[in-house]
Amino acid sequence: MNIILFGPPGAGKGTQSQQLKEKYGLIYLSTGDILREEMAAETEIGKKVKDIISKGGLVSDEIVVSIIKGRVGTNLQSTGFLFDGFPRTVRQAEMLDEIMKAFSLKINAVYSLEVPEEILINRMLERGKTSGRADDNIDSIKHRFVEYNAKTRPVLDYYKKRGNLVGINGVGEISEIFNNLCKEIDKL
Ligand code: AMP
Repeated sequence: MNIILFGPPGAGKGTQSQQLKEKYGLIYLSTGDILREEMAAETEIGKKVKDIISKGGLVSDEIVVSIIKGRVGTNLQSTGFLFDGFPRTVRQAEMLDEIMKAFSLKINAVYSLEVPEEILINRMLERGKTSGRADDNIDSIKHRFVEYNAKTRPVLDYYKKRGNLVGINGVGEISEIFNNLCKEIDKL
């Protein structure tokens, strides 16, 4: 079972993923988390992406795709993958298809957490007080939404055309949203 948790910045993908990966025993692949690890370890990739991430821009497709390809390839024995924050462009979605095909796998479903933008901005500013993330400030947040609307939102259409997109209301109690996600996943 390979699933994608999709949604705008601050939609709660990370929070829900923590519970989902436990419940379904999935390998969790968050490109945001992996890139933050690369930055913390000051690797070549980390140095390359640091400025882009702090300003709220998107890292190049080549970098994130090569990270995902490596992680999928080294975890082929797993029950499945949970992708969070990837794919974020149509090109990444196409390349993910190629990767999955190469390993005889497929994406079973894409769950899109739906939350209005005003709520998201407040959530992220609140998170910024404790997250220590360089991109949880108002200027970077605004830029992340510009990037989301221009480059990431079209990914929804990509999966809608495939018929494997499921919308989930992302406003409400964390546990309620989790239960709604589980109800959908259990249909697979
Ligand atoms: P996230 O933790 O998912 O909010 O990601 C934090 C930041 O990492 C994003 O604002 C981007 O700068 C970068 N990033 C994470 N995932 C991707 C991706 N799939 N493609 C491009 N940039 C990404």
